[in-house]
Amino acid sequence: MTKEIESTLEKAQDAFTALGKFSISQRVALMRTVADEIESLGPELISTAQEESHLPEGRLVGEKGRTIFQWRSYADALEKGSSLDASIDTANTERTPPKPDIRKTNVGLGPVTVFGASNFPFAFSTAGGDTAGAIAAGCTVIVKAHPGHPKTSKMMADAISRGVEKSGFPEGTFSHIVCETYEEAQILVSHPFIKAVGFTGSYQGGMALVEVANKRPDPIPVYAEMGSINPVFLLPEKLSTSASELAKQYAASLTLGVGQFCTNPGLVISVESEDLNLFTDTLQEEILKVVPAPMLNAGIAKGYAGNLDKMISQNGVEVLAVATAEASEGQGSATVASVSGLDFLLNDALQNEVFGPFALIVKCKDAEEALAVTAKIHGQLTATLLATSVDLAENEALVSLIGTKCGRIIFNNFPTGVEVCKSMHHGGPFPSASNNQYTSVGADSIKRFVRPLSFQNWPDEFLPEELKNSNPLNIWRTVNNELTKEAIS
Ligand code: NAP
Repeated sequence: MTKEIESTLEKAQDAFTALGKFSISQRVALMRTVADEIESLGPELISTAQEESHLPEGRLVGEKGRTIFQWRSYADALEKGSSLDASIDTANTERTPPKPDIRKTNVGLGPVTVFGASNFPFAFSTAGGDTAGAIAAGCTVIVKAHPGHPKTSKMMADAISRGVEKSGFPEGTFSHIVCETYEEAQILVSHPFIKAVGFTGSYQGGMALVEVANKRPDPIPVYAEMGSINPVFLLPEKLSTSASELAKQYAASLTLGVGQFCTNPGLVISVESEDLNLFTDTLQEEILKVVPAPMLNAGIAKGYAGNLDKMISQNGVEVLAVATAEASEGQGSATVASVSGLDFLLNDALQNEVFGPFALIVKCKDAEEALAVTAKIHGQLTATLLATSVDLAENEALVSLIGTKCGRIIFNNFPTGVEVCKSMHHGGPFPSASNNQYTSVGADSIKRFVRPLSFQNWPDEFLPEELKNSNPLNIWRTVNNELTKEAIS
């Protein structure tokens, strides 16, 4: 282990011990100060990220705003007590046997390592949701810098460190580290000080870290958000009313950001019909018009080309359209292909993620085959139904099966936007995520980095503030099974 990694781990551990003395309101203030520091980063942040990620300015400006909102909204959630989940069951000495006083809150797990993604240099990287969530939880954080945007990562890290210093928190509350090898990066998972890992990226990367974590004498959670092809189900009545319009909207969602979203809708499932033909004809026209654009980096562009080649060489796959304008090096060409329901059922490779602007349309011979295809689909972050109410009512079995396959089920809308709010679930059954119980977006993502701690018969003055009789934080608590802000007399 290098000296730098060793001292970073020690600082993170020491800071975690010291964090016990900081109040919830100090932690809230820290998060708001970090948000202000990120906000004050000027145009240089955007131009640096643009240069490193090839993402357009408008997209990056929006992503910066989203990142600031994540810090502020998670701070609000902490202030309101929602991530603490405080509950109190008061004593009953009359009962036989007597019931003790039991109170429960959520405490930080310990130092957390965050592996950011290449495709969101702000919102899912160094200062992204995993880091904000872990800090809100009361953890210290070590970020392993993504090599796709090293300067951006450093600028964000410096902003967080300034926030830490200004708020009077110990230096090791947040650290940023550049790893030269996978071995080095994996020490940040296997080391006994580390108590959880947040990851967004490839299936291979996520699973490598899960394996390292599971081999520890004390296995720890790895919250890995990995690949997803986000199926879109076209149901007959909806298709009969607006096939062309749907195809245009779908093409826009598929090719947004050169398809480099974990929620990119890369799979369409429908039953063969004239309306489906109209949908695919319009989709082909739209795809032909898409102007190829630079992908995040040379590796991602190479990965797209290679995975696309593998996909279109599978049995029964027919290419329907490729963007007319030729792609230069580093760019990705939008492509659409189709396959029969039967071929899809016979070949698991057709479910591999082709990260970029690619869609596979599965044409099923009838509703029964569509149900079989759906049953075969792996776990997904999202599934989308383009349907009418009649379609929903007439396809009950399909609709409930789809619900078992995804973390977010969408009706007549598209999955690429991921709203940051408490009700968002950004995660899903394996392999879209390594743990399908938690979201990586929205204030509930804080809960990945806490563990419950119960206090039994504890003197009020020594209880954490969120469990004290007087409810000094004025938060909602479950007291004897009722949600209330009332103090306990
Ligand atoms: P990635 O290659 O999985 O890398 C993410 C982070 O994990 C990087 O810091 C990487 O380090 C590290 N890492 C990867 N494998 C590792 C291992 N075996 N041991 C230790 N550390 C490891 O993801 P990416 O760079 O963001 O994009 C690559 C691919 O991931 C894309 O082509 C796409 O398929 C997928 N992706 C999926 C999502 C999603 O949200 N589902 C988002 C983005 C990307 P190094 O870079 O230093 O190797």
